[in-house]
Amino acid sequence: MIGSSVVFRTRPWTVLLLGLLTTASPAAFAAECPGHPGALGTSRTLVVDPHEHPRIGTMQYRETLPLKDHEVVLTFDDGPLPKNSNQVLQILGDECIKATFFIIGEQAKANPEGVRKLVAAGHTVGTHSMNHPLTFDRMPLDKAEAQINGGIEWTSAPMTDPSKLAPFFRIPGLMRAEGVENLLISRGIQVWSADFPADDWRHISPDRVYQLAIQRLEAKGKGILLLHDIQARTVAALPKIIRDLKARGYRIVHVVPATADQPATPTTAVEWLLHPPTETTPIARWPSVPNFAFTQTATLPAPGLADLNTQTGHQPLVLPRKTVAQADVTATLPAPGRDLFAIPEGSVDVLLSATLSRRAATRLAIAAEAPHAGKGKPAKMQARRTAHAAHPKHAAQAKSTSPRPTRVATSVKKRA
Ligand SMILES: [Zn+2]
Repeated sequence: MIGSSVVFRTRPWTVLLLGLLTTASPAAFAAECPGHPGALGTSRTLVVDPHEHPRIGTMQYRETLPLKDHEVVLTFDDGPLPKNSNQVLQILGDECIKATFFIIGEQAKANPEGVRKLVAAGHTVGTHSMNHPLTFDRMPLDKAEAQINGGIEWTSAPMTDPSKLAPFFRIPGLMRAEGVENLLISRGIQVWSADFPADDWRHISPDRVYQLAIQRLEAKGKGILLLHDIQARTVAALPKIIRDLKARGYRIVHVVPATADQPATPTTAVEWLLHPPTETTPIARWPSVPNFAFTQTATLPAPGLADLNTQTGHQPLVLPRKTVAQADVTATLPAPGRDLFAIPEGSVDVLLSATLSRRAATRLAIAAEAPHAGKGKPAKMQARRTAHAAHPKHAAQAKSTSPRPTRVATSVKKRA
C-alpha cells in the first residue's frame, strides 16, 4: 500500500491510470484486508443475471463466467460440515477471499449455524439439492424438483434474510439432465457447472489436490475452480493453493446474483466464452467459410424397395448397390497367384484326417483327384466347406505346385 502511494505521487497520471487498469497487485488487495498484509484478497465483484446466462461452466456448457485472464472464482460444494467447513471459512477469511458455496439441504438442517457463518462472512450461498443423490440425470422430474426445493428450503431457513440465498444451483455429481436444467432455468435459477475440478473428493493427497488445482487453472488461464469444503484434504491444500495463486498473479472474483438494486455487470456475449476470439488470435481474422447452398440435400429421395432387392446372388440386402467406381477397383485388382492356396503334397491327408468328418474327408479326397468335381453341387453343400484349404479347387491346385509349406497348411496342422 505504501509503495502504491509513492507511485501515485511521483508518476504521470497516464501511467497511474494504466497501472490501475491492468495490474491490480496483491498488495493493493491486501489493503482491503486489514490485519492480513500478505492477503490475496478479492479483486472484484461480478454481478450476474441467471436469466441471461442460465448455464455456466465449460466442463459441461458452452458458456462460463465472463472472467478476464488470471481471474479465478472459488466454489465449495457439499457443506457445511462444521470441522472442515469452519477451517475453510477461516482460511478464506484470513485472505479476504469471497467464494461461492453450494449447500446440501441435509447439511444445512444439521448445521444451520454453518450457513449463518457463510452469510455473515459475505460469501455467496447457492444450493446443491436436499441429500445429494447422484441420479439427477435419470430421476423423474418431480423427484428432482423435490430435491431442489428441499435444498433451498433448508439452506434458506437459517438465514435471517432468505433473499441472501443466491439463485445458483449445482447438480450433485454434475449429473446434468436437460429436463432438470430447464426446470431450474424456468425458475430463474442459474445452473453452475465448473471449468475445472481438483479431484478433492477422491482418495488423493492434499499435495495432489493442490497440484491438480494449479495445473488445470494454468491450462485454462482463468475459470471456476470446483472444491469441497467438507474434505480434510481440501482444508490442507487450500493455503498452498492460495499462496500459489498469489505468486502466479491470479486474482479472486466474487460472484453475486443481480437484484433490483444491483444490476448485472455489463458484459458482451463473447466474454461468456472461455476463450473468445481476439485480435491477437490469428484464426479470428481468417475469412469465414462461405455459406454454400447444398441444393441436392433437400431433395434426396428415400431408397425404394427395388433398390434394396436388385442384388444378385447372396449379397446381403443392406449392402449399397455396386457403383461404377467400385467395379473399376475390382477390375484392377491382380488375380491371386496360383501358389497362394497351395498345399504341399501329402498334407491334404493330414488336413482331412485332422479336421473333417470321414464323410467330408472322402468327398474332398475325391474332389482333390477330380479338380472340377465340386462344380454344380448344391449351394448348401458347398457352403459347409469353410476352410480355404479344404475347398476342392484349392486342394486341386496343390497337386501342381511346389511342396513348400504354406501358411494355410501350417495353421491347419497346428490346430490338430
Ligand atoms: Zn456435491
